Amino acid sequence: MKITFLGTRGGYPMGGQTSCARIEGNCGSLIIDLGSTLLFEHPDWVAEADHVLMTHLHPDHIAHLASLVIARLNLPAAEGDVSFVAPESIRDYMQFSGLEQVPGWRQKELVPSEWGGFTLSAIQTRHPRKNHAYRIYDGNTTLVWTGDCSYSEELADFCAGTDVLVCEASMKEEHIDNALEWGHMTPGMFARLMNEAQPALAVSTHYTELEPADFAAIVRPLLNENIELVTAFDGFELVIPVTM
Ligand SMILES: [Zn+2]
Ligand SMILES: [Zn+2]
Repeated sequence: MKITFLGTRGGYPMGGQTSCARIEGNCGSLIIDLGSTLLFEHPDWVAEADHVLMTHLHPDHIAHLASLVIARLNLPAAEGDVSFVAPESIRDYMQFSGLEQVPGWRQKELVPSEWGGFTLSAIQTRHPRKNHAYRIYDGNTTLVWTGDCSYSEELADFCAGTDVLVCEASMKEEHIDNALEWGHMTPGMFARLMNEAQPALAVSTHYTELEPADFAAIVRPLLNENIELVTAFDGFELVIPVTM
């Protein structure tokens, strides 16, 4: 499996792009979230982007949702509709945006267990807007992508045994009250989730208050020794198993 991080900022695109990644597995590719313009610098990826997982419909995750659909309508290499899996109605969002006439997409009603060759499941996390953490298996590697959330035991159970756990890293520890109110992680909550889920690779993304290096410096001493911490950044390619 290969993950290309196209946006790793949370909330607003200061210092980089907001949430978006491309996953390449044994069985094909998919996109998670559409908050980054970097995707559009790869027309071949846009053309191939017919399977898109949305963690939730907050602006930093959907900023370029309509752009993807419209771009594909204008790319001869793009075939078929974009199939979305999301915790809320994409149609409602398109209607709100005055784009209800735009073709080229559809939404799965639920989370299908098999989708584009991947095995898929989801759980709702603690966040003010309905957010899915997704568990994705390509036949070789299991990846959990949390989207936005604060810690919960249900989330830790859902993540247990995954090879790779990509988790948001929004808040400073001293803002834990804010983090709980707004459904985000602090370094302490991030470490607790990792230590309970025990992935081989812990990956941080969705930075808001802390820069990646600062977040990592706080989290690393809190993590069990057998968990490797990787800090994602815009453009970062993570190849699993790690070959670097
Ligand atoms: Zn977010
Ligand atoms: Zn959010």
